[in-house]
Amino acid sequence: DFPKTADVVIIGGGVVGTATAYYLAKSGRKNVVLLEKNTVCSGSTGRCGAGIRAQWGLELNCRMALACLDTFEQLDEELGLPTGLNQGGYLLVAYKEKEWEQFKKNVELQHSLGIMTEAFTDVKRAQEICPGVAVDDALGFTYYSRDGHADPFLTTFAFQEAAKRHGAKFYKFTEVTGLKTEGGNIKAVETNHGTIECGSVINCAGAWAQDIAAMAGIKLPNWAERHEILITEPVDPGVCPPMLMSFSGNYYIQQRPHGSIIAGESPAHEPLLGYTSTVHSVASIARTIIKLLPRAKNIRVVRQWAGYYDMTPDAAPILGETDVKNFWHATGFSGHGFMLGPVAGQVMTALLNGDKPPIDPTIMDYRRFERGEKIVEPNVV
Ligand code: FAD
Repeated sequence: DFPKTADVVIIGGGVVGTATAYYLAKSGRKNVVLLEKNTVCSGSTGRCGAGIRAQWGLELNCRMALACLDTFEQLDEELGLPTGLNQGGYLLVAYKEKEWEQFKKNVELQHSLGIMTEAFTDVKRAQEICPGVAVDDALGFTYYSRDGHADPFLTTFAFQEAAKRHGAKFYKFTEVTGLKTEGGNIKAVETNHGTIECGSVINCAGAWAQDIAAMAGIKLPNWAERHEILITEPVDPGVCPPMLMSFSGNYYIQQRPHGSIIAGESPAHEPLLGYTSTVHSVASIARTIIKLLPRAKNIRVVRQWAGYYDMTPDAAPILGETDVKNFWHATGFSGHGFMLGPVAGQVMTALLNGDKPPIDPTIMDYRRFERGEKIVEPNVV
């Protein structure tokens, strides 16, 4: 019983699509349909580090991140299923003078918005937060205890189940193959299972968003950037905080509540695509873990994998309507879409319903790139 019509079609079953389906259905929109070419959470969401932080350097991002933390903190209760939220802080490490100066400015901004980040230079304080961490070469640290991570699968499945309870319909293994427009309006979505006439379409296809946009003649500047990541066997908790991260050091390391350590780094920008893992990455990430956390040296890596960041030229999201009426984007989340997913869903719901969104998304319009504008955030991976 594949649908012939829908009010809203959401393309993509990652955290952004499922959260959008949930908030839209909860707001009373009938006939919300989500299409996923594979399984829910099979894209970037199921491959991510799932870190959530409020430590940003732009007011817009701080405000979005605070809204995300507020949302995540009551999400288990709201959705009726666990998200695996684990707070306890991000410890950010600065190795460069300019970076440390920027961190101090970020903290001033964060404090002005109620994000009570701690900034310090004492390695001993860092070692209280992360026992034995080898950071003698660092210039300074910031730490915010409300930051943390959640489980990307649990979170996405929780959104899916709650959306279904509100009437949204999910169709997996359903690939969008075309979009029909008429007189500058979106009219229908074509799939491998049939065509759905619809009122609105939201492109939540992550690293594939550019292909979806092109189906309606819209050119997005997004591209997929491959990142590798690994997980170790579980060990006693307390090896590291929910997130130990450095932009200049090019690492993020976290310990899951059950004891496994997850770690990753940014790629050396080789033009590689595909999910194949490389020996280079596992060796490089493992070296970083051992350097920072010497007592982790005998812990075994059990799995490594790769996933895509859905990059934009300023590593900031694209939210809003396109030149085709009723065709919307919620894409381009770079390395931060897991934490921003729930708020993106809230913003998209408000936009479609003509309500005031919790965050003004005007600046996140995709036409900013044509105008030569960028959202410049100093605290990005
Ligand atoms: P996705 O989860 O990719 O969902 C898009 C979906 O669209 C996919 O499931 C795909 O199958 C589907 N799709 C594509 N084309 C079609 C089609 N034609 N028809 C139907 N369906 C289609 N973010 C954080 O906030 N914190 C982190 O710590 C973090 N760490 C990361 C670490 C790594 C290694 C990676 C790769 C990413 C990380 N991210 C992190 C980024 C985060 O994973 C993404 O920004 C986020 O998951 C994007 O969610 P999404 O729903 O937009 O995309």
